[in-house]
Amino acid sequence: MLSLPLQAPAGRPLSLLAIGAHPDDIEIGAGGLLLGLAEIDLKARYVVLTGTAERQQEARNAAHSFLPRADLTIDCLDLPDRRLPTAWGRVKEVLEDVSRSCSPDLIIAPSSDDAHQDHRTIGELITTVFRDQLYLAYEIPKWDGDISRPSVYVPMSVSTAQRKVELLHKCFPSQRNRDWWDDEVFLGMARLRGMECRAHYAEAFRCARSVIVPGPPGA
Ligand SMILES: [Zn+2]
Repeated sequence: MLSLPLQAPAGRPLSLLAIGAHPDDIEIGAGGLLLGLAEIDLKARYVVLTGTAERQQEARNAAHSFLPRADLTIDCLDLPDRRLPTAWGRVKEVLEDVSRSCSPDLIIAPSSDDAHQDHRTIGELITTVFRDQLYLAYEIPKWDGDISRPSVYVPMSVSTAQRKVELLHKCFPSQRNRDWWDDEVFLGMARLRGMECRAHYAEAFRCARSVIVPGPPGA
């Protein structure tokens, strides 16, 4: 299958906006993609909408661990965890504020059909604020069993997948006691998605709209 490269535009860094409802969402959903982007010229804005002080610090550490060379700006907010739908207007304001100071090429964020109400609220609002970006909606395994048909795959080497899981354990110690937080869930999901795209491991995303320009860059 033809793979479309994701690279920095000529003469400037790739601008990434990564949004999470909770402090570990971005890395669970797209940690492998982040590790891949860590090698290119990258300007990244992280926005995490809920979290205690402890978990916000974990989110900051994770951002720096997954993207050690990026030009990073990190915003951690403390909107109501598990009740983001009640803060719909505030979430929209946050996204609108971000859009005024950040014009990303790529957005990674939850999906509008995610079963978790906090994730879903963000997914529903992304395209009401950002309309000129490639938006890849990541998936997060959960007891609701909402994994769905993805449209975009990011293959991961075995070492990248293992590095992702290693960093998840290291960066989010507050989550280690959760019964779903283990290598088998993370690597099992990655193996399933890898099988679907003929790689060993992969992350998968939903993309509702993308633009393809034939020919050399800038043509
Ligand atoms: Zn979450």
